[in-house]
This record gives sequence, C-alpha cells and structure tokens, in this order.
Amino acid sequence: MKKIALLPLLLLLLSVFLTSCAQNEPVECEIFAMDTLMTVKIWGDERCLTQAVNEINRLDRTLSAVNENSEIFALNETGTAQLGEDTYALLSRAVELSKSTGGAFDPTVYPLVKLWGFPDGNYRVPDADALQSAVIGTEHVRFGGDTVTLDEGCMIDLGGIGKGYAAQCCIDLLAEQGVETAIVSLGGNVQTLGIKPNRSSWVVGIADPQEPSRAIATLVFQDSLAIVTSGSYQRYFELDGTTYHHIIDPETRYPADSGLASVTVLCDNGTTADAYSTALFVMGMEDGIEFWRREQDFEAVFITTDNRIFATEGAEDYLSECEFEVISR
Ligand code: AMP
Ligand code: MG
Repeated sequence: MKKIALLPLLLLLLSVFLTSCAQNEPVECEIFAMDTLMTVKIWGDERCLTQAVNEINRLDRTLSAVNENSEIFALNETGTAQLGEDTYALLSRAVELSKSTGGAFDPTVYPLVKLWGFPDGNYRVPDADALQSAVIGTEHVRFGGDTVTLDEGCMIDLGGIGKGYAAQCCIDLLAEQGVETAIVSLGGNVQTLGIKPNRSSWVVGIADPQEPSRAIATLVFQDSLAIVTSGSYQRYFELDGTTYHHIIDPETRYPADSGLASVTVLCDNGTTADAYSTALFVMGMEDGIEFWRREQDFEAVFITTDNRIFATEGAEDYLSECEFEVISR
C-alpha cells in the first residue's frame, strides 16, 4: 500500500527535478537587426525567446530611419505622421533626454548624419555651409495627440537610443512572461535580468577602443543592469588620413572631438543608458562628470583617446582586470 502511494510523489519530484534542470540550461538565439548582430539568451521557455526576438524585429521595422516601411521613415519623408504608441513614447522620451543632456543627445541630428554619409555608406566630408544650414534641434518637433509634425528640413534619427530601448522592451517582455533570468546583447548594448540560477556573476567586457575585438576591462556583477557603450571605433570612415566617426556633436556639427574614445554607462534603464552614452561621448569627460554628479541615476566608465580609464565612484566595484582612476562624487 505504502509503495503504491509513493509512486505519484516520486513522479512529481522527478518532473520538478527535470524542470529545474531545464531552467538551469539557457536557450539562446542570434539575429541580425538594427544593423548589428544581436543575441538573446534566457533561462526559460523557448516560446519566450521567440517572443523576445519578434519584439526586437518589430522595433527594428518601426524605428529605423532607413527602412522605407518604418514609421520614422514616413515621418521624415512627409514631415508629419501618426505614430504608434511605442514610437510616439520613445520620440517623446528622446526629446526629454535631449533637454536633460543640454542637447548633447539630439534625436534631430539625422540631416547631419545623412550629410556625413552614414546611413548609406556614401561617406564624405560635407560642405561647411551645408552643415551649418541643416535644420536640427528639438524645437522643430511638435507633438499633438498621437501625431508628430516636423519643421521643414528636420529629420529624426533614433539610432542613438533605439537599441537601448529595444533591450529594455525585451527585458520587460521577458519579465512579464515570468522569465527570471536573461541577457540581451544588442551590439554595444547589454542588458541583464536577474541572477543566474547557478549564482555565477555576469561578466561583460568593455572593448579596447584601439583593438575592439579585445576587452580592455570587464564589468562583473550579479543582478539586473543595462550597460551601454558608445565609441568612435564602432562606426567611422577615413579620408586623407583623418578619421571621421558617427557620433556628431550637434553644436559643431562635426564628429564629437571631446578627447574620449568610448563611454560606457551603467544604469537600471536601457533606454536612458543608451541616450546617456551618446550624450556623454559628445560632452567629454569634464562636462560628463558634472552631468553624472547632477543626475545621480547612472555610473560611467570613460576611456580617453590615449587609452586611460576613468570610472565614477559607483562603477568602481564592478570594474576588474584593468587599471583605472576613480572619479569621486
Ligand atoms: P550610439 O552608438 O548609441 O552612441 O549612437 C550613435 C548613433 O546615433 C549614430 O550612428 C547616429 O545615428 C546617431 N547620433 C549621432 N550623433 C548623435 C547625437 N549627438 N545625438 C543623438 N544621436 C546621435
Ligand atoms: Mg546611445
């Protein structure tokens, strides 16, 4: 009698054991979207992984300035468009972040990005007059209901914030589905969710700007975090011995020349981290540190063009395998 009653209990224990084994093994997917190779890895159900990948592809189609079927493309073409909830919210957030970063992050930088030839790879040094007469600035963007209207000549580029937003959406979606542990890696953007089942740390490398396939430092931590790097090595062209990279200083209208080779931002929110990394690269270290002291919602690792590493006080505990100087509050 006793033996028969034990059988269902044993089967139940076995199935719990097998499920927990399965949860300890992550499932992973690699995709090419937003112009970079991306990976999504989750400790959970394959169906959640598919949903996360679909979410990234959907955002790529919606937010891209070069995809002719995207909402942003339509807005830039016609100067006015009814936007979906996501796009409207992200553009509003981008404008807010432009204001809080004193215009260093600017989603209206697209006319300049185009003049420099980055969207189509037809690189050139633009005529100085053409650069100066380009219409940029968030005062040229007007929001009403669900419709956005741009002044003549103004165009939107969410390239400086889109990947961070996609990573954040992906993590939110996974968390809603009950996934407790995941890591999404979208180009220079990495975002983690939760603690790994075996409690080992997350280890995220910071690329050496002089030799990007190699890590110059690593960040080691346990829990949820967004880590976003903006660097001049990520996209650039060379002409007559000069290198021109893809992060434009809206003030000078030329590639930012702030003495930095890269900035890595550590933040709870992927969207904010992405906008901040672009903004800090434009600001340079001195103004970037001022900004860090004022905002209090992120930490940063700066790498200068002569490869010195500076970490804000709160980033110190995360950094390993490198020598660096600490910036105090
Ligand atoms: P990130 O790699 O996040 O720093 O973003 C760089 C991309 O954002 C560029 O390829 C441009 O499409 C766009 N971008 C360039 N300069 C700026 C800027 N100052 N503010 C916002 N977006 C920018
Ligand atoms: Mg960015």
